Amino acid sequence: MSPVIGVLALQGDVAEHIRAVASLGESVREVRTPEELDSVDALILPGGESTTIARLATTFLLADPIRERIANNMPCFGSCAGMILLADRILDGEADQETFGGMDITVRRNAFGRQVDSFETQVAVEGIAGEKVHAVFIRAPWIEAIGPKVEVLATVSDGPAEGRIVAASQGALMVCSFHPELTTDTRLHELFVRRVKGQS
Ligand code: GLN
Repeated sequence: MSPVIGVLALQGDVAEHIRAVASLGESVREVRTPEELDSVDALILPGGESTTIARLATTFLLADPIRERIANNMPCFGSCAGMILLADRILDGEADQETFGGMDITVRRNAFGRQVDSFETQVAVEGIAGEKVHAVFIRAPWIEAIGPKVEVLATVSDGPAEGRIVAASQGALMVCSFHPELTTDTRLHELFVRRVKGQS
């Protein structure tokens, strides 16, 4: 049976992630309720606004069920705000900002500086062969510290943020600071699907 990929559909780049996964020929559906969460094998946490998504997840009674699924090894892929939501620790969060957690990483919100609202660059991503990935950063976080079980998948290769970690994985979880859903390059989604299927 091929896995069903869910996209947490409370706020943010939901349609873009759905389009990317569907273009790979995979089953994908929106997740807004605990029942819908039960019906998926994996979950994408989109870019958007992490404080809003976390608040809505609590309101929609999804926050604890998502934490439970993460604890039970549900594969998750978080982009940008989704990365923040999967981090065990955040810096520059709002007071009392909650995450789902699961990854032993410290993530700084809006890390590239408020004046640099968005920028684009090429990054080499571990597990993705061929050309570098065109990475779109929008008020993006970066990973400031990682625990021993975390594998770094990508760092910024030039400019003021050189060396900063912008993609990583730990067990079934994978995150990136940028927005693969906003480009036509689906290789990050393919990488996630391969991980969901246990092929990578
Ligand atoms: N700055 C946003 C946050 O804190 C993330 C930005 C994004 O997802 N484009 O949630």
